[in-house]
Amino acid sequence: MPGRILGFDFPSPLLRPVPEKKRSSSSVRADPSRHDSMEHLRRPHFGKSHSHDKKDKDGRRESSLGRQAAKHIKLDMVVESPPVLFLDSPQHSSGSLFSGRMQLIVTGATAAAIKSFTLTFRAITSTKRPVGDHCKDCSSKSTVLKEWKFLSDNAEIATGSHDFPFSYLIPGHLPTTTHGHIGSIDYKLFARAETVNGEIAEYIRPVVINRAIRPGNDKNSVRIFPPTNLTLNVTLPSVIHPIGDFPVYARMSGITTKKEDTQIRWRLRKLTWRIEEQEKFISPACAKHMGKVGGEGRGIQHEHTRDIGSDDLKSGWKTDFADGQLEGEFTASIDSGLKPQCDVDSPSGLKINHVMVLELVIAEEWAPNKKPNQATPTGAARVLRTQFNINVTERSGMGIAWEDEQPPLYEDVPASPPGYRNEIDNYDGSELNEDVDQLHLS
Ligand SMILES: [Zn+2]
Repeated sequence: MPGRILGFDFPSPLLRPVPEKKRSSSSVRADPSRHDSMEHLRRPHFGKSHSHDKKDKDGRRESSLGRQAAKHIKLDMVVESPPVLFLDSPQHSSGSLFSGRMQLIVTGATAAAIKSFTLTFRAITSTKRPVGDHCKDCSSKSTVLKEWKFLSDNAEIATGSHDFPFSYLIPGHLPTTTHGHIGSIDYKLFARAETVNGEIAEYIRPVVINRAIRPGNDKNSVRIFPPTNLTLNVTLPSVIHPIGDFPVYARMSGITTKKEDTQIRWRLRKLTWRIEEQEKFISPACAKHMGKVGGEGRGIQHEHTRDIGSDDLKSGWKTDFADGQLEGEFTASIDSGLKPQCDVDSPSGLKINHVMVLELVIAEEWAPNKKPNQATPTGAARVLRTQFNINVTERSGMGIAWEDEQPPLYEDVPASPPGYRNEIDNYDGSELNEDVDQLHLS
């Protein structure tokens, strides 16, 4: 299907989730039969034969032979372009050029008659939660994004190595290579040559596509916590990377309420931050299992959420009760050992996004206005809970974009979306009053 560069033509945009009978939990169940069925999904099949060469993952050649192993021809590839890195958002990216040479090596003493020699660039969406258990067609979907026909009509090719250059401007709107807990997106170059004698040589090369959204201005967000007077201002970088740390600035105002002779105030006792990776995947059904989801174009939505970084802070901020506010900056990071995924929103049904969740434990205390340093805890405590969208993307620094002369395109950074529920809960932890004496005004 050459020319279908928009790709992902399968049910994609039409997919409508049907209610899942049982919400998938985020824990992986240790069901051995299920585990077995997972194995083959990690390396999606296409074509009829496929080897299990370990080199697949790190982007090198997989040896793979067809029904009749080729004795007189071999395939190889030389990649000439740098690693594929899309710059900017899917709406604004101009894509990335992939170029190389396909090599057909005729090893025999005589020329080989080639019936066909093709190369395809494919997108493969696969899931660990297929609609039909163990169904290969439900588990994996391969879409041809680009096809080259190098040889046909029994072309006579002489002994030796022959180069077939190819190049492809990979469209920048495509979702990036992603390996989530439920769904995955992979790209592969798949070459196949067949001689008139029925000898088949195959060659498969994964192509990893990354995206880097270039940093813009920091994002300021405000959260309020009625019925209290507390207002929380948080400043976060516009983009966050899977590796490395980033600063989070927080300021809370409205912490002191003064009466004629006395004051009531909130002291921040503990701040917990957490980065959540939220994955959604709509598992499509193959023709055979369509009935399970109520017809064509439907799928079953699965969700998986996990923490990919967190910490508790008990100090590090400056409290000014006279001014009624506290502020501080802390460093947060994603645990790169957890194989974090970048944000992706694929028309093939996979979506991964990230939020930073903040929880602030505040304790109420009372003090006379004349001696504000002599405070007494009232025993009341609350938990303030709120979250912020964060944009997880690769760094743009190292990649050399072929179109770098273009002026950068920045998406307008919208104001924080409303509608996040900021919560206040009663604090029912224990240790708050025990270490009150160690606290001091700073
Ligand atoms: Zn199926």
